[in-house]
Amino acid sequence: MDKIAVLYDAGQAVLSTFDLDEVLQRILGIAHDYFHLRNVAILLLDQRSQQLYVRSQIGWDEGQDQIRMPLGQGITGAAALKKQPIYAPDVSKDHRYFCSAKSTRSELAIPMMVRDEVVGVLDCQSDRVDHFDHETIDLLTLFSTQASMALQNARLYSLEQQRAQQLQAINAIAQQTTSVLDLEELLDRTCKLVQHAFHVSHVSLLLREDHDLVLRAHYGTLTPRLPQGGRFAASSEPWATILTNSSTAVEGDLDGSPGTKFFAESASRMCIPLVSFGQTMGILALDSSQPNAFREGDLQPLESVADICATAIQNAHYVERVKQLAYLDGLTGIFNRRFFELRIMEEIERARRYGTGMAVIMADIDQFKRLNDEFGHVLGDEVLRQVSSLFNQQLRKIDVVCRYGGEEFGILLTQTTAAQALTVGEKLRKIVAAWQFPGVPQTVTISAGAAAFPEHGTTRDELVRAADSALYAAKQAGRNQICLAKLRAQAAGS
Ligand code: GH3
Ligand code: MG
Ligand code: MG
Repeated sequence: MDKIAVLYDAGQAVLSTFDLDEVLQRILGIAHDYFHLRNVAILLLDQRSQQLYVRSQIGWDEGQDQIRMPLGQGITGAAALKKQPIYAPDVSKDHRYFCSAKSTRSELAIPMMVRDEVVGVLDCQSDRVDHFDHETIDLLTLFSTQASMALQNARLYSLEQQRAQQLQAINAIAQQTTSVLDLEELLDRTCKLVQHAFHVSHVSLLLREDHDLVLRAHYGTLTPRLPQGGRFAASSEPWATILTNSSTAVEGDLDGSPGTKFFAESASRMCIPLVSFGQTMGILALDSSQPNAFREGDLQPLESVADICATAIQNAHYVERVKQLAYLDGLTGIFNRRFFELRIMEEIERARRYGTGMAVIMADIDQFKRLNDEFGHVLGDEVLRQVSSLFNQQLRKIDVVCRYGGEEFGILLTQTTAAQALTVGEKLRKIVAAWQFPGVPQTVTISAGAAAFPEHGTTRDELVRAADSALYAAKQAGRNQICLAKLRAQAAGS
């Protein structure tokens, strides 16, 4: 009875803290001192690999705490598999024995159970042969039951803490919604917050654009297989199902579908649709380097995060749209002169900093006044729209086409030399000259002037003036052609 009282007290002590490592050390300390055991350890069962690993130990030989013991192997593995204590009074005569300390002569392994499940093993080793009598085995079994409870409590507690942390993250993300209206920044921050709060390897945000999904932001420790801004068809699986049904998908083992992985080391993934006002705008994807890393319990907080994200993204979209409207030309839908002025400064700065070069083309429709007079303003407007869209189609996405004024266009070509700008201008000239404008039974042509950084100018005014002079020269030379600006020294001399 005395022993039971001691064990009861010990159990209470164990239950008084939620820190898992402290709990385990206390359990082992009591077993070690009270039962005069040389080596004691708590091995926990890794549910995925079905292996026991040493979580906490006292007295084991150096390096032995790294071992992993498959279920059924060694005396500990056998106890875990059978869900029964196993006692080897003389380890030298037990073929199952696996040596973790040279001094060991007898070993007792007691499974730690929660309900019907084995969560680990309390492993007790003595340097005396047949050290454990019946009473000791019973007491240690009782003790291991209390230890399992403590273990379970500590796990629940850490799960609770994780939940609290997740709630905090959801709050933080919600707060960002109101404060961050810049979409890029919002996406980046969201990925970071989710990655920290949910302890996953990598978090990405994919947004729908036309018929594609675009990887807009990601954060984490894995190796990307898709660059930021990379895109793929939204109609491919598993994306199509997630987007169409607006339903979360959990993929426990990605080895079966390596083609859909965003990250080289990704082993499992959870994809949550971003839904706002009934529209699925994209996907919040969580990747783990471990298979089956996602649990049912993660779903609800993550779906809350996804909802907040979706609304935030929608808001940021609105703001972007309003900002854009200020920079868009009402008639043609392309950028206006205000945007040209803004972007040319940025492009010059970039060209200066990285030495990549950039060029400007000023293009003007020839004899547009006459065209208006002959066919009317409405057709004139339509020609302006079609020329704008021809330009947009011919140029790269990173180039900027603006309506500079009336029937004049300003084009910014990033990372482009003077010679390349001439080629681009010539391509535009040809395509317009060949185009059949509906209702206009005659050829419409443009004239253009090109200037490049730094040889034709190093400031906005210099570059625009140089390109304008070249445009003027093209008009003088008979229209329907493109001229290159004069070098600065020549321009100053003339
Ligand atoms: P050039 O070959 O020398 O460029 O001759 P041009 O007739 O094109 O040039 P000019 O500057 O003499 O005339 C430009 C005309 O463009 C005058 C104006 O009525 C017309 N225009 C400007 N903005 C618009 C517009 O938004 N819609 C229409 N339909 N016409 C416009
Ligand atoms: Mg004109
Ligand atoms: Mg003009």
